[in-house]
Amino acid sequence: MQSKDLLQLAEQFGSPIYVYDAEKIKSQYNRLTKAFSKVENLRINYAMKALSNVAILQLLKEMGSGLDTVSIQEVQLGLHAGYDPEKIFYTPNGVSLEEIEEVHAMGVQINIDNLSILEQFGAKHPNVPVCIRINPHVMAGGNTNISVGHIDSKFGISIHQLPHLVRIVENTKMNIVGIHMHTGSDILDIEVFLYAAEILFDAAKNFKNLEFLDFGSGFKVPYKKDDIETDIEELGKKLSKRFNAFCVEYGKELTLIFEPGKFLVSEAGSFLVKVNVIKQTTSTVFAGVDSGFNHLIRPMLYGSQHHIDNISNPKGKERFYSVVGYICETDTFANNRRISEIKEGDILSFRNAGAYCYSMASNYNSRYRPAEVLWMNGKGHLIRAHETFEDLLKNQIPLPIEGTKA
Ligand SMILES: *Cc1c(COP(=O)(O)O)cnc(C)c1O
Repeated sequence: MQSKDLLQLAEQFGSPIYVYDAEKIKSQYNRLTKAFSKVENLRINYAMKALSNVAILQLLKEMGSGLDTVSIQEVQLGLHAGYDPEKIFYTPNGVSLEEIEEVHAMGVQINIDNLSILEQFGAKHPNVPVCIRINPHVMAGGNTNISVGHIDSKFGISIHQLPHLVRIVENTKMNIVGIHMHTGSDILDIEVFLYAAEILFDAAKNFKNLEFLDFGSGFKVPYKKDDIETDIEELGKKLSKRFNAFCVEYGKELTLIFEPGKFLVSEAGSFLVKVNVIKQTTSTVFAGVDSGFNHLIRPMLYGSQHHIDNISNPKGKERFYSVVGYICETDTFANNRRISEIKEGDILSFRNAGAYCYSMASNYNSRYRPAEVLWMNGKGHLIRAHETFEDLLKNQIPLPIEGTKA
């Protein structure tokens, strides 16, 4: 989709607004399946915490995708979007045994990531097919907040506890059907990923009844021109070969699972905001926009550098701007960024706004969350309306004081 299409959508639906390009989501999905076409049984489970709009879930379902979920509410949204329970995978961290049992009762594949719950669940439900999340302690790089492989990580069962794990499984006679790892976001080096995969293969040999191996995700996507990204094609070539060899060794054609979030939806998303005010100080030119970290928290939370285009004046002379939000707290989207000359009223577009953007939006400062639009077949489809004042009051219960509005 082109920036003139984005500009037209901002006019049609108002700002701030999230726009997702269906074609880009589809092409990323196809790219991944093509890279692993040599694997007989490949399954892609979209990690829906990246972007959980039901229309996006429907789109990916049409493509043949399954879902990777981290909460019972995500499972419910997946079922609501029409996914069969068998297509949903549940990989929670730190949730209660009750929630895990409830999700299991819905017919969803559960993935257990700690020994305590494994033992309790195994004792109560010995025959249920269970997947185990292993932490291979391989650092795949990226921001420490999104890195889950390090030794102090709360995720997964440490590979060093494998003997203990095997004992629990033998004692409870649990049915372990899958082994899982998710080394965290931003994989830069394929060799590191393959090294972690070897640890998973080794662990897998301890379990005789496996049906699948789940390699998680963490594929890095480019944020700007010349950015490094995970070379999916090379990973496909190397891991497929190794996986197929492992299946021969194991004596069974296993299913290979990936659960990408960012890879599928990040680049498909654009976030459109309007410039309310240009403020020139002694040192900086600020462009203040009709949004803030309530709508897009990644720059403040992770230091993410989202590329910003002035789509109202794409050919203008480039100047330096600090793009800031309207939240009453430091709220910086970009510092001294070269952007083509901005006038008040212009529409700016943030790239890579598909993953972990809307799904992390809040009502801080009592602002409405933005609308969402899916661009499909040359047309914008509203897939979430702008919020209204009623949404802010929903679930609030005022005190019964006379003279105030209930
Ligand atoms: C968040 C998450 C993913 C998706 O990670 P991306 O970096 O967005 O691809 C996959 N698996 C699990 C278990 C996750 O928690």
